[in-house]
Amino acid sequence: MTNSLSLPFDFPPFHPGHVWLVGAGPGDPGLLTLLALHALRSADVVVYDALVDKRIVGLACEGAVLEHAGKRGGKPSPSQPDISRRLVELAKEGKRVLRLKGGDPFVFGRGAEEADTLVEAGVPFRVVPGITAGIGGLAYAGIPATARDANSAIAFVTGHDADGAVPDTLDWPALARSVPVLVVYMALTHLDEIARRLIAAGRNPGEPAALISRATTPAQKVLTSTLAGIAEAAGGIEPPALLVVGDVVTYRNRLDWVTAQGTLSGEIS
Ligand code: SAH
Repeated sequence: MTNSLSLPFDFPPFHPGHVWLVGAGPGDPGLLTLLALHALRSADVVVYDALVDKRIVGLACEGAVLEHAGKRGGKPSPSQPDISRRLVELAKEGKRVLRLKGGDPFVFGRGAEEADTLVEAGVPFRVVPGITAGIGGLAYAGIPATARDANSAIAFVTGHDADGAVPDTLDWPALARSVPVLVVYMALTHLDEIARRLIAAGRNPGEPAALISRATTPAQKVLTSTLAGIAEAAGGIEPPALLVVGDVVTYRNRLDWVTAQGTLSGEIS
């Protein structure tokens, strides 16, 4: 089944019985790593998440089995242990198993849990990092993750924990005080509460904030406002979306190269 890329260097072989946990990036297929493309061209089975762009799944070899690990046809999503067990099962059948996840597999992606299960089951695996939404999405919104005049630190934060609530394990006051740029994943559900917590912890209500929805895809939408105004402005913004809080957001006024060049749609055949 192997139909590898031909480049002037060798890719690591994708052995039968191995699992590769691969990051697919935030959407634009052009943001895949070469290793991810090599894995797609070599895998027998691709187990992919709902967040993975269909154009990327479509790069798998003809004949590869494509398994959706997310919600399907109204059925509840398989639980995380179910997905991990499925990876082990497929590997034990001698398949080259590609576990394809949105962004980076180890950034809010449950990749660690899956890797743990593989270790326990004695299944050899490799991790192929991907461009996380908090990096790729910002770049496509014309918002630098760091800029010399704006910030010397950045934090990636999750807007909800495993139970779906705003994470109480996070020290919001400390974050608000010490990190000038916050990139909040899974922020939409609790946008209002997150903004309120940050303001209550001393963050300036007038601080620039942005929501970046469906970043790097033809449906990308970016909305800018203030921290105090962002929740109210968010109507019509669809998941997946990131919240960015910090002065770097103002760079978008000058650096919004996507809008300057027209839409992203149609760029990718
Ligand atoms: N492992 C992924 C994150 C998974 S958590 C990564 O590294 O990017 C899911 C969250 O990621 C979403 O709620 C959203 O906040 C963010 N996200 C993923 N893809 C995105 C995209 N194309 N545009 C905006 N946000 C995205």
